[in-house]
Amino acid sequence: MLRGMKRLNRYENRILKIVKLGGKLVRFKQYGFSTRTAEGFRFPIYVLEIGKEKAIKRNVAGLVAGVHGLETIGIRVLLDFLDDLFSRKSSELYREIKDGELGIVCIPILNPGGVAMKRRSNPGGVDLMRNSGIEAVKAPFFFGGHKISNFFPYYRGNVLQAESKVLDRFYHEYFLPATNVMIPVIDIHSGFGTIDHVWWPYAGTHEYCADEALFQKIANYLTTKFNHILYRFGPQSETYTTHGDLWDRLYNHFQKTKLETNLTKSRFLPLTLEIGTWSDIPLDPWKVFRKRGIFNPAREAKQESIISHRKFLTDVLRLAKTNPIDLA
Ligand SMILES: [Zn+2]
Repeated sequence: MLRGMKRLNRYENRILKIVKLGGKLVRFKQYGFSTRTAEGFRFPIYVLEIGKEKAIKRNVAGLVAGVHGLETIGIRVLLDFLDDLFSRKSSELYREIKDGELGIVCIPILNPGGVAMKRRSNPGGVDLMRNSGIEAVKAPFFFGGHKISNFFPYYRGNVLQAESKVLDRFYHEYFLPATNVMIPVIDIHSGFGTIDHVWWPYAGTHEYCADEALFQKIANYLTTKFNHILYRFGPQSETYTTHGDLWDRLYNHFQKTKLETNLTKSRFLPLTLEIGTWSDIPLDPWKVFRKRGIFNPAREAKQESIISHRKFLTDVLRLAKTNPIDLA
């Protein structure tokens, strides 16, 4: 566990550096704890609030990473993005944050125990993206989530895990009451494929979600207006279906709550950025034999790959202050 702990420590130090760089614009919160390890240890989970409090209520966007402990490239993409934002202090996004036009809430590492223990699952052996309790209409055997044993990957668990509850609370505190028309949230993952995917709900069914047309519009806007042509957009179920996706659950909750109360025009728009890390295998063929290899880009391409997502994250987060009418 020592090397994993060192890695986690490095990320936490980078978070603290970002808090320092951000000054008054960043609030650092210890928000919850991981599931216990076999030794009884719980890892703290942190939240960063970025921007003025009123902007976080009115024009909020979300950033999440480190849901799967092996997909550390996502954490690095997130930290690089924030580091760059506060180091340069010259971007339009920085100006908007400073002027109270936009706020970002962020969980840089939802599954710190998985990072420290160098595994996909949480310390209890549960795959958080199989844990929400949602039954998929039809999911691939095993990979789609199973209840056989936490000895195997993709284990769904029997109860909502501490980390899943933290995400739930995060959603209830920041996204459910937000008043912006579009509430974009990006959860950064990696692995499985040669290209970068951007997924929206659902993971558990091929049925379209209520915001399918809006998501399509957003994809089109990001592609044509901002030239993000290297990302492949679509509902997650187009790639594969899984049981227990946490975003499916939160998205459904938002739909149910908002439709029934009819109180808002807000749309909760969770997106998963899945960074394809198989494309550079010819550069580094041995990576397929290393544990973290297939989930992370080869060293040579790593820094370039990390930086390449800055613009994309910026353009997605700025949807928080965009009117859907302006997407056309
Ligand atoms: Zn993942």
